[in-house]
Amino acid sequence: MTEQEVRAGGAEPPGLLGSVKALGKGMATTARVLARKPHTTQYPHVEPDLPERSHGVIALLESNCTSCMLCARECPDWCIYIDSHKETTEPGPEGGRARSHNVLDRFDIDYSLCMYCGICIEVCPFDALFWAPDFAYAEGDIRNLLHDKDRLEGWMERVPEAALPEGGRGGRAAAAAAKAAAEAGPVTTEQTEPGRGAE
Ligand code: SF4
Ligand code: SF4
Repeated sequence: MTEQEVRAGGAEPPGLLGSVKALGKGMATTARVLARKPHTTQYPHVEPDLPERSHGVIALLESNCTSCMLCARECPDWCIYIDSHKETTEPGPEGGRARSHNVLDRFDIDYSLCMYCGICIEVCPFDALFWAPDFAYAEGDIRNLLHDKDRLEGWMERVPEAALPEGGRGGRAAAAAAKAAAEAGPVTTEQTEPGRGAE
């Protein structure tokens, strides 16, 4: 008697022995699965052990951002809001030209619209955006899902070391300062204490 025959009603149903066998088979399957380690965890009582480069939230390294607007233009959801103004640096006493640069006034990401595609991170030419693994920032009020630049900068603490740009969490400014210090050479006792001669 095949299963198809039983389903089609063209054969006799299994007897008592067949039913007991089928029940035993089902119980054996249940016992096997019970002994396995579960794949699920009881969140939020148990935190998931995620890879450190998980795509949880976008962090902003403000010192690297030039307000070029590329991320905002490429974002398919139009959920990045940037405002900036220009400032001019006057030439120093040694001469040169006045230089102008953008100063970031506003950099917000609306996580109620974001679809976590990562395009903004990919297109940023200045290493100013990074993935951080944090995901637990759900809000009762949807308006609180708009993260401003201070909050986005705060996520930088959670960006893994391996993903950090030149200059680490300090960005290009820190890298430039470190380079300038290295070029200036080591600080000697004479430089720091000019009145003191060699002993
Ligand atoms: S991850 Fe995608 S949707 Fe979200 S802000 Fe970036 S570009 Fe926009
Ligand atoms: S985050 Fe990057 S792409 Fe976006 S405005 Fe700043 S420098 Fe430009």
